[in-house]
Amino acid sequence: MLKKILIAIGIALLIFIAFVYSRVQPSGDINDYQAYYTNDQSPPDSNAVKVTFFGATTLLFDDGETQLLIDGFFSRPTMFRVLTTAIQSDTAMIDRILAENNMNLVKGIFVAHSHYDHSFDVAYTTKKTGATLYGSPGTLNIARGGNVSESQLSAYQPNQELNIGQFIVRVIPSKHSPGNAQNDDGISIDTILKQPARYKSYTEGGSFDFLISHHGKNIYIKPSPNYIEGALDTTRADALFIGIGIVTKQPPEWQQAFYNQTVGKLRPSVVVPIHWDDFFYPASENLQMLPRFVSKGPEEFDFFINKTKADKIDFKILQGKKSILIK
Ligand SMILES: [Zn+2]
Repeated sequence: MLKKILIAIGIALLIFIAFVYSRVQPSGDINDYQAYYTNDQSPPDSNAVKVTFFGATTLLFDDGETQLLIDGFFSRPTMFRVLTTAIQSDTAMIDRILAENNMNLVKGIFVAHSHYDHSFDVAYTTKKTGATLYGSPGTLNIARGGNVSESQLSAYQPNQELNIGQFIVRVIPSKHSPGNAQNDDGISIDTILKQPARYKSYTEGGSFDFLISHHGKNIYIKPSPNYIEGALDTTRADALFIGIGIVTKQPPEWQQAFYNQTVGKLRPSVVVPIHWDDFFYPASENLQMLPRFVSKGPEEFDFFINKTKADKIDFKILQGKKSILIK
């Protein structure tokens, strides 16, 4: 009898392990979309902004004289570490990525919201680059936890124009993607947050989009896929970087409204997906799609590919550390 019970428990355990294993696998093969890959290798100049992707929503903007970072999440600890322990920025990894990608002109760092997959490395990256960190009160408290000087911290002033070199940046309030797994929309980190810290300490504290203008070209960045009805009615952009993870997990009406309120309003000539890769792995040149338990990867790519095609808008995919010139 005992033997039968043990065998039954063993089988149940194996089924459970197989289930968990299948759920953490990539939701699809990004290489099926190679036809959409792009990588502009020519250098930036005053009329061509180079945008380089480092996975999740981390983007580097570069016009040859000034660089701006969105998020700057480089450490990307493993899922096991994130779920089981207090985590800490991998400073050697950040040093290496900053050096290998010539990030020696970073003047501004802008953070989408304070969840760890956006804000985790702000303290070290701000100190290392000497840039100004722009963020919500919660994001600034993460930087204070890493002893960033107050002179390098600047609280968001939504919808105000900010001149940094030849760039003009506007921070635009938005909403976190639906179904926030941490269920902490709007909850700010209201005391100084020191590392190591559990990932759940990084509470959302407001989500933001960015409109970056450069010599008349407008680039819109929507890191978290959601929208405020009518918010972009009068905004136009030449290029749109848009978070796509979780979009097709929402009802069809929501998907349609999301597209109409973003691509439909901004009318860009090119759309580039972001927040599609599994950020539990390092920022390599072979990013994989988000795991199955988070995203329906291929459905999300197909949704945007089909809709942009119908609207005669280019759809381009950046693999890790690859760039696109906006000119
Ligand atoms: Zn988030």
